[in-house]
Parts: sequence; structure tokens; C-alpha cells
Amino acid sequence: MEQTKYILTEKEMPTTWYNILPDLPKPLPPLLHPGTKEPTILPPPLFPAGMRDQEFSKERYIEIPEEVQDIYKLWRPTPLIRAYRLEKALDTPAKIFYKYEGVSPAGSHKLNTAVAQAYYAKKDGMKRFATETGAGQWGSALSMGCAFFGLECKVYMVKVSYNQKPYRRILMETWGAKCVASPSQDTEIGRKILAEDPNSPGSLGIAISEAIEDAFGREDTYYSIGSVINSVLLHQTIIGQEAKMQMEKAGLYPDIIVGCIGGGSNFAGTYLPFVKDKIEGKQPKLRIINVEPAACPSVTKGPYAWDYGDVAGMAPIAKMYTLGHTFIPPGIHAGGLRYHGMAPIICHLHQLGFVEAKAVPQVATFEAGVQFARTEGIIPAPEPNHGIRVAIDEALACKKSGESKTILIALSGHGHFDLGAYDEYLSGRLQDYDYPEEKVKEALTHLPEVKYVGA
Ligand SMILES: *Cc1c(COP(=O)(O)O)cnc(C)c1O
Repeated sequence: MEQTKYILTEKEMPTTWYNILPDLPKPLPPLLHPGTKEPTILPPPLFPAGMRDQEFSKERYIEIPEEVQDIYKLWRPTPLIRAYRLEKALDTPAKIFYKYEGVSPAGSHKLNTAVAQAYYAKKDGMKRFATETGAGQWGSALSMGCAFFGLECKVYMVKVSYNQKPYRRILMETWGAKCVASPSQDTEIGRKILAEDPNSPGSLGIAISEAIEDAFGREDTYYSIGSVINSVLLHQTIIGQEAKMQMEKAGLYPDIIVGCIGGGSNFAGTYLPFVKDKIEGKQPKLRIINVEPAACPSVTKGPYAWDYGDVAGMAPIAKMYTLGHTFIPPGIHAGGLRYHGMAPIICHLHQLGFVEAKAVPQVATFEAGVQFARTEGIIPAPEPNHGIRVAIDEALACKKSGESKTILIALSGHGHFDLGAYDEYLSGRLQDYDYPEEKVKEALTHLPEVKYVGA
């Protein structure tokens, strides 16, 4: 066996984030103000100045503040690992690698942006964050980020996940945050939704509305989002920059990069530094496959349209693939993938043909996750199981064709808090959900009317 693990030293850790915006062959459509429907910035009362500057920055490389770098070094650089045992089990000539973000204290990539956001909020003299969380990974990451910078943290957690994953709430509370099930009684929008449907399972769109309402209502509070927006994808590019250096050490360049997309941050963070090569014509054959759940397939089934980021229509309007901001996805276990829209950068790259997308059903993703656990040891979170599913399918295709492709998987986090989901799978109770076509059709009738026709 050749080398298994490709490690970088602390000194080799990138000191800048990579901003794709200046390298896009066509400019990214702007965000539109939810009221005026004219181009806008990230709303100043909600976001740190540091992030507002980054959101539409033209600078290609943006300095990572030293305090943030120092915290990153608690778990970064993260390892790139060659999945020899999985390759052997699949009997494939493909070379499979995974970049593992589960080594972070919160168990996922989300700390990369949580720490940065807490740093920028503290710098502005803010005292508190309000945020939403799906499966709880984002809430726990931000809770830890806030603990490190002495900020309070209030987390609105999607109710279905709140009930499925109590340990995530306990993590948040251990790091000092307050966590409530969303829809909650703590906000006007939460009370309104509960009045209409006391059994609402919640959705990321609803939880976002609650957190935004909370932050709008208090001067000492910023709103924080763990995915979707440009600055968050930017913070995650540390993953891809490291992975690129590590693939170089392995003497290989990926033919396929595959990962899961919920709002798109872990996977875009992994592939944006590689997309740069494709845009520049250096790697025309590189395939980048965004994988989403068949139950919430925004990129593969949704129209490319202007839509609100949240249920209540308080968040800016973005041009994205969307299932409609009022769409409430089925309660799949990959809570982090239950979002109606998608990062505008990913949607734009898809429109331009630089990346592709696939949707996979839930049971097949757990089958892949279990095979991964039994060969590589790591029990992946339900979200990255989506990427692993497609990686295994591609590796099996290589077996048929005899091609020895290099496949890079974005392994965004571990599944230690998702064992209830594994239990359902192992005991044969886990089910697939049909694509909720009628519900999506209905939700798409609520897209905002936008007259903006600029770039
Ligand atoms: C939140 C989460 C996701 C989905 O969010 P993205 O912004 O698309 O990365 C995927 N994997 C893990 C482990 C997560 O915690």
C-alpha cells in the first residue's frame, strides 16, 4: 500500500480564503432587497461589517484574521485520506480520496465559518447572535464560535431535527447557547405558523425567518447563517485549498469531485479552488457533481428563479434553483440538506456548465454510509452519505469500464449524533420519500415578482 494519509503542517495551512467572484466568466446576479426588489447588500443591522465587505468583494484572496487562524489550528489542516479499503471492497481501479472535516470539535466543516462570523461580530462590538439550525450542526458550531469570543447565542432548531437529535441541543447548551424548537413561541412568525399548524415539522426557511425576526428586534444582536451566502462559501474555501495541496502531495488531480449540497457551503468550499482551474481551461475534463436528496432536489428539479431565502420573505431575494420559499421538505435525516434553495454561486456555476448535479434517495445514501463505515471506519453524517453514494456509483462504473479515475469526496462531518437514523436504516425502518411534486408546484406559485433585468 502506498501512502494513506496526506497531512499538512500548521505552517502550510492557507492564510487566505479564495474568492471566486473575480474569476467568474459572467458576473453573479446580485441580491435583491425583499421590499424594493432592487440590488442590495447584506442588510447592515443583521450582518457583521467584515462579512458585508466580503459578500461582493472583488479581491481574489482575502486574508484570514490571525485570531481565526489560531482557532482553526485546533483542528486544521484536516486530513486527506486515500480510501484503500473502500476501493478494495468495491474491487474498483478508481482511486478514492476523502477530505475529512469531521475532526473539528463540532464534528463538521461548519466551524470554519462559525469562528470567522463570531470574530467579525465581536469586532463590531456585538453581544449576541440569533441563528437557525437544521440537524443541529450549524447551531452547535456557532455555539462554540460564540463561546470562544464571549458572545451569547440563540438557536432556532427545526422541530423535526430537535426531536430526532436531542444530543445536538445538549452540545449547544454545553457551549453556552440557548436552543428552541422551531417554529417556536418566541417570535411572531413562529406563533403564526403554530396557530395554523400546531404539528408543523418546521423547515430551515421557517427557522431562518424566526432568527431574522429575533435579530431585527434587538440592537445587540446579529443574525448568522451557516450556508448559502457568498461570504460563508468563501470561509469554507480553506477546505479546497488544503485539499488541492494534499492532492498535489499525492501526485494526482481529481477526475471527479463529489459531495453533498444543502445550502452548498461545504461542497463549494471544497471545489471552488478546483473550479478556478476549470474556468481557466486547465482542467477541462474535471467533473464536479453536486449531490442532493431526491426529497428536496432544488438544483435537479427546481427552476432557476428569483426567490426569498426564507419563508416569511424577510431575507434578500437571490437568483437560484428553488423549490419555492414556502416549500417544506419531508423529514429526511439529512436535516442539513432540507433547504428550498441553493447557494447562488453554485447555481450560477451550474448555469454556466462548470458543475453538474444529481439527486439520490435516502435509503441508498445510508447503504453507502454503512459500506463506508465498514471499510474506512468513519461513520459519516447523513448529509455526506449523499456524496459517498455517488462516489461509490462512479467507482463501480470505473470497474465496468476499466478506467482508473481519481475521485475526491467531500466528507463534511461525522454521524455520531445521527445514530438514531442509522438505527432506522439497520433495522429496516428507514424509508424513501417520493418527490413531493404537488407541494413544490404549489410553493412555486409564491415566487416573488421581480422586474430586475440587470446582469
Ligand atoms: C450542514 C451540513 C451540510 C449541508 O450544508 P452545506 O452548506 O451544503 O455544506 C452537509 N454536511 C454536514 C456534515 C453538515 O453539517
